[in-house]
Amino acid sequence: MTHFSHKNQEINNHRIDLHCHSTYSDGLLSPREIIEQAIHAQVQTLALTDHDTIAGLSELHEAAQHSNIRIIDGIELSAAWKKHAVHILGLNINPSHNGLKQLLSKQLDNRKIRAKQISDKFAQIGINNMWEKCYELAQHERIGRPHFARVLVNQGVCLDIRTAFRKYLIQGRPAYVASTWLPLEDVVTTIIACGGIAVIAHPLKYSFTRTKLKEFIISFKQAGGTSLEVISGEMTNESILEATKLCAQFELTASTGSDYHGPGVSRIKLGHQAILPTLCPPIWLQF
Ligand code: AMP
Ligand code: MN
Ligand code: MN
Ligand code: MN
Repeated sequence: MTHFSHKNQEINNHRIDLHCHSTYSDGLLSPREIIEQAIHAQVQTLALTDHDTIAGLSELHEAAQHSNIRIIDGIELSAAWKKHAVHILGLNINPSHNGLKQLLSKQLDNRKIRAKQISDKFAQIGINNMWEKCYELAQHERIGRPHFARVLVNQGVCLDIRTAFRKYLIQGRPAYVASTWLPLEDVVTTIIACGGIAVIAHPLKYSFTRTKLKEFIISFKQAGGTSLEVISGEMTNESILEATKLCAQFELTASTGSDYHGPGVSRIKLGHQAILPTLCPPIWLQF
């Protein structure tokens, strides 16, 4: 077992979480409740990174006003790379930037079309009105696969979210629809254009081979990307070591986040991800 030093945290005496979700995408808590959790967990720097939307940021800022939490404006953008769906975090973005708004409007159109198609596929196997049920649950149109999964669980069709994904929603299963996200290059370019830093989210969760993962990192760098989420949610020491090596090999800065989606969904709490190894240059020095 490798033991990682707590030095990064000691130097800064700083708890930081740069990846989480609210009810504005597929999280269970509102931005206000996220701030309550952040205060409880003594998080000092926080980024809300909802999927393909900045809609939760104003509520987040409002809720954080009377706390000492520093908010970094963030987003988690879905992107297409060689027929794969990948996730790129944009940190320290300017949410009012026009180029970003245009990109988000295209992503939303694609997400809405996909949600209808997924719903049609469920109807074909006798599971009806899924779009309506997802909309009722989400209370917005940014419907993702987790909303479908939660409806299936609430209706007793599946025991848990993981099973719902495995039985219906992943590639090869009856309600899978290939996404049509914008290309990696456009996503990275737009993040940079609006003043943000582009970060590869959860690099070890794509079930890529090592060679493919490195190819992906090279494409990301060619597009202008500079950072890797070395610590992402729950990780083993082995995966931390692997991500740290990638960070060093490709000379990227390092980000850290819980990828918190709410109680019961995420096993670790907001701000409770492992500490960033000292070897990694922390992204927050760039904010
Ligand atoms: P979408 O962007 O609609 O395709 O949904 C992606 C989201 O679904 C991710 O951000 C996770 O929150 C969740 N997710 C993806 N794969 C799984 C899985 N196998 N089990 C549970 N949740 C998953
Ligand atoms: Mn999610
Ligand atoms: Mn993700
Ligand atoms: Mn996420």
